[in-house]
Amino acid sequence: MTANFTVSKVSKRQFDVVIVGAGGSGMSASLLLANAGLNVAVLSKVFPTRSHTVAAQGGIAASLSNMSTDNWDFHFYDTVKGGDWLGDQDAIEFMCREAPRVVYELEHFGMPFDRNADGTIYQRPFGGHSSNHGEKPVQRACAAADRTGHAMLHTLYQQNVKARTHFFVEWMALDLIRDAEGDVVGVTALEMETGEVHILQAKTVLMATGGAGRIFAASTNAYINTGDGLGMAARAGIPLQDMEFWQFHPTGVHGAGVLLTEGCRGEGAILRNGLGDRFMERYAPTMKDLSPRDFVSRCMDQEIKEGRGCGPNKDYINLDMTHLGVETITKRLPSVLEIGHNFANVDITLEPIPVIPTNHYQMGGIPSSITGQVVAPKDGGQQVVNGLYAVGECSCVSVHGANRLGCNSLLDIVVFGFAAGKHIIANCGQSHHHKPLPSDAADLSLARLSQLESCRSGEYSQKVADDIRATMQTHASVFRTQASMDEGVAKIAKLRERVGHIGLTDTSRIFNTERIEALEVINMIEVAQATLVSAAARHECRGAHSVSDYDRPADDPTCPLGRDDVHWLKHTLWDSASNSLSYKPVHLTPLTAQSIPPKVRTF
Ligand SMILES: Cc1cc2nc3c(=O)[nH]c(=O)nc-3n(C[C@H](O)[C@H](O)[C@H](O)COP(=O)(O)OP(=O)(O)OC[C@H]3O[C@@H](n4cnc5c(N)ncnc54)[C@H](O)[C@@H]3O)c2cc1C
Repeated sequence: MTANFTVSKVSKRQFDVVIVGAGGSGMSASLLLANAGLNVAVLSKVFPTRSHTVAAQGGIAASLSNMSTDNWDFHFYDTVKGGDWLGDQDAIEFMCREAPRVVYELEHFGMPFDRNADGTIYQRPFGGHSSNHGEKPVQRACAAADRTGHAMLHTLYQQNVKARTHFFVEWMALDLIRDAEGDVVGVTALEMETGEVHILQAKTVLMATGGAGRIFAASTNAYINTGDGLGMAARAGIPLQDMEFWQFHPTGVHGAGVLLTEGCRGEGAILRNGLGDRFMERYAPTMKDLSPRDFVSRCMDQEIKEGRGCGPNKDYINLDMTHLGVETITKRLPSVLEIGHNFANVDITLEPIPVIPTNHYQMGGIPSSITGQVVAPKDGGQQVVNGLYAVGECSCVSVHGANRLGCNSLLDIVVFGFAAGKHIIANCGQSHHHKPLPSDAADLSLARLSQLESCRSGEYSQKVADDIRATMQTHASVFRTQASMDEGVAKIAKLRERVGHIGLTDTSRIFNTERIEALEVINMIEVAQATLVSAAARHECRGAHSVSDYDRPADDPTCPLGRDDVHWLKHTLWDSASNSLSYKPVHLTPLTAQSIPPKVRTF
C-alpha cells in the first residue's frame, strides 16, 4: 500500500515552543519553558531517556574546588587553549562562569553524583583540565561513577515529567518552516507509528538534535546520531559552522569503537605502546596521558606509525588499568569493566585493553549565540534568524573551538539549554502571537517523501550510507592530507547525486524503518559534504584538523605546529545550496576576563 503523502492529510498543531530533541540540551530548555507555563512540545526519534546524552560516561566540568584548588578562570584558559584558539572567548567565559551554578542546580534536581566523605560532589581529573594555566592536572570533572550522562538525563526527564512537558516520542522532525521574511514559524514531522505527516506551528523552534558521528564508519555515537538538525538547517538555507573539526577520542575499543571514558585516565589509567612504555611522558611532560584528545590521538597514531603499536599487527595501543585495583574499578568505572568483558573479552582488572582513536564528537554545527539564537549571514553581516534557536551538540556557539575538552559537552548542553530557555521566556513568551504559516508550509517535506516513494527501483539507503561512512573514514579521519581530502570532496559530490536516487522497497505506513533511515541518509549527506568541503579548504593544522602537508615544528616562527593564525584564525561557514564557503571572525574578546592571545600549544 502506498503512503500517499498529500497536503490534505497533513494535520496542524500549535505550540508556543517546539523543541526538536529530548537529550540533555533539549530537556534543559524544555524544563525552564514548561515551568514558566509555556505550551512546549519536545519531539524525539527515541524515548527521551534513550537520547545519546545517556551514554556520556566521565563527567561534567565545573570548577567547584571540592578536591583541588580551581576557579572559572583556570577552566576558561584550558578551554581556550584546548580549542586551539578557535573558540569564541565571550561564550567560553560565559560557560565556565555558569558551570558551578548549573552543577548545583542539577544536584538540587536530584542528580545522583558520587560523593566525597564530606558530602561534596566527587570530582576526577580529565584531559586538558589544569590548575594555574597549565601548571598541573586538576580535579574538575563532576562524576556519577562512569554513568554521568545517564544520571543527568534521567534527572532532567523526571523534572520534565513533573513540569508536564509535552513529549512527542518517536516523531521525526523533517524540515524547518520559514516564511517569506525568513522567520522560522514551525517544523514538519513524521509520526513514526502511523506514518503521518504533521505541521507543528510555533512562535519559536529550538533545535537540540545532538551529534552526527554516524557519518563515520568507526564512531562512539549511537545509530540515531545522523545529523538531522544540521540537515534541516542546511536545507533551510542556514550555513553550518566549523564542520571540518571532528574529535577522535583516543580510547575507543579496538575493533568495536565503543568508548572507554577519559575518566579511566582520570582515575590513573596509562596508555602503553607495544614496548610497554608510557609514551605520553615523552610528548607531554606535564599533562602526560591527560593532555587534550586531539593531541593524545595524534601521539598514539605516531607510535603506531613508527612501529611501536601493540598486538600481532602493531595496530593498536594498550590502555592499562591493572594497577588501579578492583575496588576503584568497580566503584568508579563499573561500565568500563562491563565494556571490557563484552566488547574486548578482557578483564580490565587483570590485563590491558586494546584501544584506538575513534570518531566521537562534532565541534561544528548550527551557528548560534550565547542566548541560543541562530545567527546567519545577511546583508553583509551576521543576523539572528527570528524564531530559531539551537543548543547542544548540533549547535556551534562556539565554546569548543577546534577541539573540545572532555566534560565540557555535558556542561555546554545544560548551560546553553538553560540560557536559551531564559531568553525565549523573556522575548518570545506567551504574549506574542503566532506568525501565519506560509501556504506551502509542508510542500518541501511532502515532495521529499513522494520522491522516495516514487523511486521504487532506486538505490538502497543503507548501501549509500555505508559508502558515505567509508568515504569519511578514509578522507576526513584523525590524520588528513590535502590530496586525500580533495579526493574525498569529489567522492562526496558523487554520493550526493546517489542520495538523490534513493528509493524505498517498502512503502507501508506503520513504523516503516526503511523510510526513516532513508530520511536520515538525506541529512547525513549534508553533514558529510559540509565536513569535507570545509576541511579541504582549511590549509593549516588546528586542533582536531591535522593535515600532514601543513605540519610544522613547535618553534616554527609563523605557523607553530602548523597553525596559521594570520590566514586561518576564523570560523568556516558552509552553505548547502551553493556548496560554497564563507568565513567570519573568531571572538577573541571575553565578556570581562583578559583575552588569551594565541600561543604555542604544548602540554
Ligand atoms: C559515548 C559517549 C560518551 C560521552 N561522555 C561525555 C562525558 O563524559 N562528558 C561530556 O561532557 N560529554 C560526553 N560526551 C558528549 C555528550 O554526551 C554529548 O555531546 C551530549 O550529550 C549531546 O547532547 P544533546 O542534547 O546535544 O544531544 P543528544 O543527547 O544526542 O539528543 C539528541 C536528541 O535529538 C533527537 N533527534 C535527533 N534527530 C531528530 C529528529 N529528526 N526528529 C526528532 N528528534 C530528533 C534524538 O531523538 C535525541 O532525543 C560523550 C559522548 C559519547 C558519544
